[in-house]
Amino acid sequence: MGEEKVVEKTTKNNKKFKKFKPRKKTGEIECNLIESLQQRYSDISVDNIKSFKDLPLSVKTLRGLKDGKYFVPTEIQKQSIGFALQGKDILGAAKTGSGKTLAFLVPILEHLFCQKWTRLDGVGALIISPTRELAYQIFETLRKVGVHHDFSAGLIIGGQNLKFERKRMDQCNIMICTPGRLLQHMDENPLFNCSNMQILVLDEADRCLDLGFEAAMNSIIENLPPKRQTLLFSATQTKSVRDLARLSLSDPTYVAPHEQSEWSTPVSLQQNYVICEVHEKISILWSFIKNHLKQKSIVFMASCKQVKYVYEIFCKLRPGISLLALYGSLHQERREQIYKEFCRKSNVVLFATDLASRGLDFPLVNWVIQVDCPEDGNTYIHRVGRTARGLQGKGEGLLMLLPSEEEAMLLELKSKKIPINKIHIDPSKIMSPQRKMESFLAEFSELKQTAQRAFVSYAKSVFLMKNKNIFNIYALDTNAFAKSLGLVVPPRIRFLQKIKKNIEAQKQKNRSEDDVSDVSEESVNKSKKTRDDSDDDNDDSYQNESQTEGDGGFKFDISDDDGEDILTVKRRNHNVIDEVDEQPIDMEERPVKKKKSLTKAAIVKKLLNKKIVANTKVVFNEEGEALLNEKRDLRSELAKEYENEDKGGIDIEKAKLVLREEDRFDKERFREKIRLKHKEEKRKLKQSKKEEAEKDDFGSESESDGPDMSWLPDPDKVYGERKSDNDESPQNSSFEGNDRSSEDEDDNASEENIHRPLKRKLSVSKGIQQKSVKKMKKLRAGVKDLSASLSVSEAEKLAMQLLQSRK
Ligand code: ADP
Ligand code: MG
Repeated sequence: MGEEKVVEKTTKNNKKFKKFKPRKKTGEIECNLIESLQQRYSDISVDNIKSFKDLPLSVKTLRGLKDGKYFVPTEIQKQSIGFALQGKDILGAAKTGSGKTLAFLVPILEHLFCQKWTRLDGVGALIISPTRELAYQIFETLRKVGVHHDFSAGLIIGGQNLKFERKRMDQCNIMICTPGRLLQHMDENPLFNCSNMQILVLDEADRCLDLGFEAAMNSIIENLPPKRQTLLFSATQTKSVRDLARLSLSDPTYVAPHEQSEWSTPVSLQQNYVICEVHEKISILWSFIKNHLKQKSIVFMASCKQVKYVYEIFCKLRPGISLLALYGSLHQERREQIYKEFCRKSNVVLFATDLASRGLDFPLVNWVIQVDCPEDGNTYIHRVGRTARGLQGKGEGLLMLLPSEEEAMLLELKSKKIPINKIHIDPSKIMSPQRKMESFLAEFSELKQTAQRAFVSYAKSVFLMKNKNIFNIYALDTNAFAKSLGLVVPPRIRFLQKIKKNIEAQKQKNRSEDDVSDVSEESVNKSKKTRDDSDDDNDDSYQNESQTEGDGGFKFDISDDDGEDILTVKRRNHNVIDEVDEQPIDMEERPVKKKKSLTKAAIVKKLLNKKIVANTKVVFNEEGEALLNEKRDLRSELAKEYENEDKGGIDIEKAKLVLREEDRFDKERFREKIRLKHKEEKRKLKQSKKEEAEKDDFGSESESDGPDMSWLPDPDKVYGERKSDNDESPQNSSFEGNDRSSEDEDDNASEENIHRPLKRKLSVSKGIQQKSVKKMKKLRAGVKDLSASLSVSEAEKLAMQLLQSRK
């Protein structure tokens, strides 16, 4: 092997190794060998090829094939390798698993060998694959069969270290890439140079050339040297003139060994379909898995979100078999792990999107279950082709079809020469995991969200399908479907409601245009009724719509017109950074309109523009007349004047003046308020004092408390009005004093006056007043005692004496 390396280098770089004569000799031998091989190319006869040795192949390639246990070439290999060696462009079409990979790898190795290609010569061959996994698989096969050659191979796929790829790019002789990543290098990497490229291969060519990769592929083709050999391979080969023109194929050779076959799928593949309702799919799948615990199966679903959800919930339900999930939105490392794990394991179920439908050669897959109907016959062929691969591979396929899909899909499958049998599933054998799923969703809110997304995602995928004869979103019982996913409340399908509204509007418009000439009373009523009915439907789930509208032709006609943009974009167009993702376009990821944040300034602006006056409170009197704003009245004249001025902007000086004036006005108002309050308090105090004084002067108001002494003379009159030495007149003085002081004293003092008990005040009175009262009482008591012992005439006499003595 080491010697061979030297030989290759010496032949290519003569100047450098001129002095090594023996090597030159070896190089000559090599040249002779190549010449003799090339001479045999024109004599290749397919019928005479029994083994790879019968083909004019280099020893290195033959050794590589032998190491890989490839002895007998398959039909596509027999037929295409010869033409490819002759340098012809090839359109290769052969069934899934028929060995197309070697059909293009062997000619690449041979071509570069015969060209004495070295690492220094750069890119000699470019292989483009639609998915990363397939690119990886081709790379691995190349490593196996090309092990004895000294070519370097590079895997250029998304999700890898770009810098690392960049550095190694110039050393690659055979490059295996996905379209997006290749274009990225073409655009950004100065080390990328494919001007010497000899062979271009498109594996799964029809997929590479379809809408999803259109833009990327056009750019790639533009950058490639026009003088090259082009090989296209697929189980469902494109014959489109447009595609061939894009690749500027020169008189390609169409190699299709199975074209005359009765069936387009492998003979050893047993294919079945079952008719079921959309809500039965999960139960059927669950029951299938539980009954095939010792098998290896792939389950295809329409979208990433469905795959994610079913995988996660089935993991929780613990079916007793390994579960894996492969879909585009996973991280690249995870994708690689899952791919390798599924290759390695034997009792396992892989849930996947169409990402895994093309080209992947998982060993010994027993079953392919298509839970959701594939978009067309070709997709069906690729999906089901993951089983029954290679020379002796066997396998089975199960397709679940809705009653609405059955007729059109079976026609499609028939047109593609696919043999498929209808089978019935014993309903008693179906186990429904719905209740358990419901309880899991109740427990795990994230899982519930995943379920909701899966639900909407399926509805979208059905809606986006091109073939409306197969896919009818209006025929789906979405409520039942949601329940089957464990969702108690079916999520709203907003995009459908919107579309329905548009349809209604369009319908209405068309109708009014038709009826514009003769609008009878009856027709008006009728259309009104229809509109009313549909308005009601709007409030319900869209399922009701399908029930009311049935299968009437209008909805597809209109939706095709209205939804042209949505309906035609089957896949998103891959750009440089985005890598392969075979999911139908995800409408949830549409750019959301940025919401403007609502600022106070914006609100004010809006109000001013609309001339809206902010809320005002109007108070009415009992007669219903509006009263002026009280608060507005409590303002200084200057403020009122300022407010009424209709000037724009603010006059700072005036505003200052107004504020000062307002301040003065407020202070005055409050002073007045306090003064009135005090006045009222004093009035009350006076009143209460008066009442108390009246009580104390004349004792108890109740006359029954003691003997009636009213007949006795007034002591003041008996002793005369006494004037105090210390100017304190009894009773009156205290009252007068209180009166006078209350005028000047502060609030506390007056408060004390108010709360001090009057009796106590009176008891504090001293001097003559108290003494005279005592004396009087004594006198009264003496008179009382005397009067008790005297007769009436004696008492009268005594009284007269007393009166006379006073005089
Ligand atoms: P296709 O691309 O047509 O779907 P592949 O190239 O992936 O098929 O090959 C399918 C399987 O057949 C692979 O496992 C491969 O190793 C095997 N295979 C291919 N050619 C031969 C051969 N000549 N002899 C034995 N096995 C082969
Ligand atoms: Mg293939």
